[in-house]
Amino acid sequence: MLAATRSLKHDRQATRVLRHQRRFPPASTALVQQIGERILVVARVTRQAKDDGLVFFHSREISSFPAMDTTPAFPTLRIVSHPLIQHKLTILRDRGTPTKIFKELVDEIAMLMAYEATNDLALEPAPVDTPLEPTVGHRVSGKKLTLVPILRAGLGMVEGIYRLVPGARVGHIGLYRNHDTLEPVDYYFKVPGDAAERDFFLLDPMLATGGSAVAAVSSLKRAGATRIRFLCLVAAPEGVRRLAQGHPDVTVYCAALDRALNEQGYIMPGLGDAGDRLFGTR
Ligand code: URA
Repeated sequence: MLAATRSLKHDRQATRVLRHQRRFPPASTALVQQIGERILVVARVTRQAKDDGLVFFHSREISSFPAMDTTPAFPTLRIVSHPLIQHKLTILRDRGTPTKIFKELVDEIAMLMAYEATNDLALEPAPVDTPLEPTVGHRVSGKKLTLVPILRAGLGMVEGIYRLVPGARVGHIGLYRNHDTLEPVDYYFKVPGDAAERDFFLLDPMLATGGSAVAAVSSLKRAGATRIRFLCLVAAPEGVRRLAQGHPDVTVYCAALDRALNEQGYIMPGLGDAGDRLFGTR
């Protein structure tokens, strides 16, 4: 009885939400109620997320948003919400997307994200002779940017960024989890020698628990790196928090901050196992 009364009240409230907008003729009461109901559900979920201090980004619905979003709950996180990235990410999430398209999309999204992640690279004046007269332009200063994919899924992000920054160097990090300590251990590590003078982009499509990310950043720092950015496609709140705790100086760029990790450590809703989907190994 109580539930029925609450539901009736809810229906009226839902109808009022839409009536208020004066968009529907009186005949479509059922439809108005149904859509109004959905609006209330979305509003409630959004309010709940805000109350928890979390904001989840899966899509951009308003095209006047800036291309990059930040949220106070995750001060090290930059969410690159460009419409093309969000569109491509949705196809990437689709379980029906075949390996070839998946690979192409990871490559394209990585390139678009790198465009944002490089937007504050230092420039120096560069004299140049045009066909008409000499002038002074700009070029990126300092040592070459270094891309470091975490094996193996990070490999899928290298080529796209490399097309944008063809002078980039490429290092590699391979990690496995020690069964006794459960800690990640490097099995492969190779980056340019003069690490202290370079900007590093650490690449992994999925920032899940954050364990590998923290270990990879620690390895880079041991090699002398001081300027490190982490680029992923999808991040879980747990991973962003853990990386921020371990390395608060590392900015994380992602295309989406998803809801949570499941018991197997997969990001939800996520896109499944990025390595398997990239290399067709399932
Ligand atoms: N690694 C993946 O490939 N997918 C996840 O969801 C989490 C970690």
